[in-house]
Amino acid sequence: MIILVVMQEKDNLLSEELNKARAELSILYEISNAMHTTLKLDEILYIILTGVTAHIGLSFNRAILFLVNKDTGMLEGKMGIGPDTAEAADSIWKRIDTQRMKLEDLISSFSKDKLDSSKLNFLVKSISVPCIEEKGGILAVALNDGMSLHIAKDKIATLKDDPALKLFNSDEFVVVPLQAKNNVIGLIVADNFVTRKPITKDDIRMLTMFANQAGLAIESSQLYEQTLIRAHTDALTGLWNHGYFQHKLEQLLEKAKEETSYLSLIFVDIDDFKIFNDTCGHQKGDEILVQIAGLFKEVSRKFDYLCRYGGEEFALILPNTNLKDAMAIAERIRVVINNRHFDSGAGHPPQNIACSLGVATFPLHARNKAELIKAADKALYEAKHKGKNNVVSFSY
Ligand code: GH3
Ligand code: MG
Ligand code: MG
Repeated sequence: MIILVVMQEKDNLLSEELNKARAELSILYEISNAMHTTLKLDEILYIILTGVTAHIGLSFNRAILFLVNKDTGMLEGKMGIGPDTAEAADSIWKRIDTQRMKLEDLISSFSKDKLDSSKLNFLVKSISVPCIEEKGGILAVALNDGMSLHIAKDKIATLKDDPALKLFNSDEFVVVPLQAKNNVIGLIVADNFVTRKPITKDDIRMLTMFANQAGLAIESSQLYEQTLIRAHTDALTGLWNHGYFQHKLEQLLEKAKEETSYLSLIFVDIDDFKIFNDTCGHQKGDEILVQIAGLFKEVSRKFDYLCRYGGEEFALILPNTNLKDAMAIAERIRVVINNRHFDSGAGHPPQNIACSLGVATFPLHARNKAELIKAADKALYEAKHKGKNNVVSFSY
């Protein structure tokens, strides 16, 4: 009799475990399928963090994702998902409940605007800590060890001065590494900031399994983005190439139309460059092109698109810029190039180089891409015609 009862209990336990494992696998399967529907990094990060925080997912209250920036050696906060306050949590969770939102519904509600207005996300994006253990605190430790770390309530006081964690105001959290093929590329930090529900061994096990898949998906997306960038970059100058210029101008003009904002285009052509090549050699000429590209970067703003249109002609797209500001930028470019003494190789004195610039503005001078390019080109032609080394705006 006793043996029978014990066996029955064992059976129950086994089937409970089995059901749990099945549910876990099905969640992991669903999130991992969603991750493979896109290669855009932002969207993948959103899917990962939605998976970690959704009730039907791993069910943490908040999740924050960091990625290593190999160039700077810093661990940078990329995205944070979770309510900013308990009240916000209540209203979000109620809405999910009443609307019976499934994981795929939550994922497909990805919106950049929503993320931009989240205080947590804003805070996360301001965080950047060194990957070196002595300076980067607990996050750097987790990154270098490549192991999941659970900081329980009794240990939290020892971390009150930690550079990143003091911002989150958490009293218990877990950090899991994002494992790519050969290395750790970042971390996920998760906690139950609102419900204060203790984090269990099962929660950590699930999150760790999930992070392994997430790491691979992020790495693929990063490789894809690098390949795209390379395909759109001019090999000599590192500026955007002609194909990308055409694509981006089309896209930015659509945006300018929607937002009824200005967009200006500057065409730049080096003056008498053939003479420079003939006297100093084509290779020195190439070096000049690289240096001029560097000067564009110095003078322009972060949101401008600097493109090599072809040969020794460049096109600079200035979003949200009216004619007056575009003319001022064009003049700054002209002056900075003209004032530079370019090394022109052994046996030649440093050379001054001038360029001519044509400026046109949407919607002042053009209604679409073809017209804007034509207008900037005509202005450039006028600049050459008027004696070179000057800036001219389009006129009919
Ligand atoms: P202009 O003042 O009228 O612009 O005279 P220009 O000599 O610069 O003539 P144009 O704009 O037609 O420039 C064509 C010359 O630019 C031909 C070639 O010597 C040089 N050039 C074009 N592409 C390259 C390049 O990739 N490398 C080098 N070194 N020179 C180039
Ligand atoms: Mg030319
Ligand atoms: Mg020229």
